[in-house]
Amino acid sequence: MDFTIAPELRELQGKVRRFAETVVIPYETDVPHDVAAWQEMRREWNSKAKEAGIFLPQLSPEWGGLGLNWRECSLIFEEAGRSLLGPQALNCSAPDEGNMHLLEAVASPEQKEKYLRPLAAGETRSCFSMTEPAPGAGADPSLLQTSAEKRGDKWIINGKKWFITGAMGAAFTIAMARTDEVKGRHGATMFLVDAGNPGFRINRKIGTMDEWVPGGHCEVEFVDCEVSEADVLGQVHRGFEYAQVRLGPARLTHCMRWTGAARRTIEYATHYVLTRESFRKTLAEHQGVQWQLADSEMELHAGRMMIWHAAWLLDQGEPARHETSMAKVFVSETVGRVMDRAVQMMGALGISEDTPVSQMYRDMRPFRIYDGPSEVHRHSIARRLLRRAAAEIGGEK
Ligand SMILES: Cc1cc2nc3c(=O)[nH]c(=O)nc-3n(C[C@H](O)[C@H](O)[C@H](O)COP(=O)(O)OP(=O)(O)OC[C@H]3O[C@@H](n4cnc5c(N)ncnc54)[C@H](O)[C@@H]3O)c2cc1C
Repeated sequence: MDFTIAPELRELQGKVRRFAETVVIPYETDVPHDVAAWQEMRREWNSKAKEAGIFLPQLSPEWGGLGLNWRECSLIFEEAGRSLLGPQALNCSAPDEGNMHLLEAVASPEQKEKYLRPLAAGETRSCFSMTEPAPGAGADPSLLQTSAEKRGDKWIINGKKWFITGAMGAAFTIAMARTDEVKGRHGATMFLVDAGNPGFRINRKIGTMDEWVPGGHCEVEFVDCEVSEADVLGQVHRGFEYAQVRLGPARLTHCMRWTGAARRTIEYATHYVLTRESFRKTLAEHQGVQWQLADSEMELHAGRMMIWHAAWLLDQGEPARHETSMAKVFVSETVGRVMDRAVQMMGALGISEDTPVSQMYRDMRPFRIYDGPSEVHRHSIARRLLRRAAAEIGGEK
């Protein structure tokens, strides 16, 4: 693996850093709660990001993107992620970024023009409706309860979903529904549902500890929601397969963005410990503080290497499920520890709203749950390992 960073990529990274510092970060102290105002603010950043030549790093030029591969995206997403608002400015934030990737891979040419084109341009937002309240799909997607029934040339979707990020104000959702009871994990289909569809309802925005998400996390419902054959995304019954197309890169891009955010909390902590004194020396001179900094630096670096490796595999056309799973567990737990240490080193200031550290700490915590909780990834990682070992033992007999 070649670790060289091409000069053009280095330059782009610098541009993104300067953009975040001068355009986005000044907004951090004045983020609107109203979804319409947020959308307006996003549009303004998007047009500035386009002018700066840093908009939409991950999509191909055909859709107005920079056409970077995942390995290159790793650097740019990390840089944008130094502010929780940065990825939105570049239009590479969740859930739109994962949805764009899925649409680019699976949607028909007509669907791409209708949904991907405006989403890529930053004119619309989207959401992804998979998780359901008990007894439906959660950590175990095979519990999917939402159903879609074929009636004539229409599909009728019924079911409840929750924690649907960005639903409020989204132009459409990608909905996962069961289309065949008997086929189990092979009996689900993805549908494109417009926000204006009378059968698609947003029941409430759920109050959560993370806040900086335009459109919140919502409880939504499909009530005799009628869509046409043309609204099936990809092929019928291949929904779970497509979910993997979306989730592999999506969980890795979360790792990239959160690594940037964790780095910023360390920047705040280092500045603090260099100037604050306790027991006749600066905090930075205390070994207990130095060890926290060193551990954070080492763990972030190890996480970054896992991200780069998994990204490189994706670039080779590998599904990289094992590697993206390992990176997701490691990085989500690492950024938790790193941010926690940053808060600790900064004392009371760390939990205040005077710096972005406490906001980042709150917004980061759900990362160990979404896109597969750590326990579920560990289960999958161990299962692959055991399968391999069992095959080896079988081979020796
Ligand atoms: C901030 C945020 C944003 C989200 N955005 C979206 C979205 O846009 N669209 C969407 O569809 N969903 C979204 N989700 C939902 C997310 O995908 C689910 O929370 C996740 O899949 C876990 O499902 P659950 O919450 O139902 O947990 P449950 O299935 O109830 O599991 C609860 C806990 O049990 C443990 N557990 C589960 N299985 C195992 C196991 N095999 N072994 C050991 N322990 C286990 C884990 O610790 C897990 O956290 C979001 C969630 C959050 C927190």
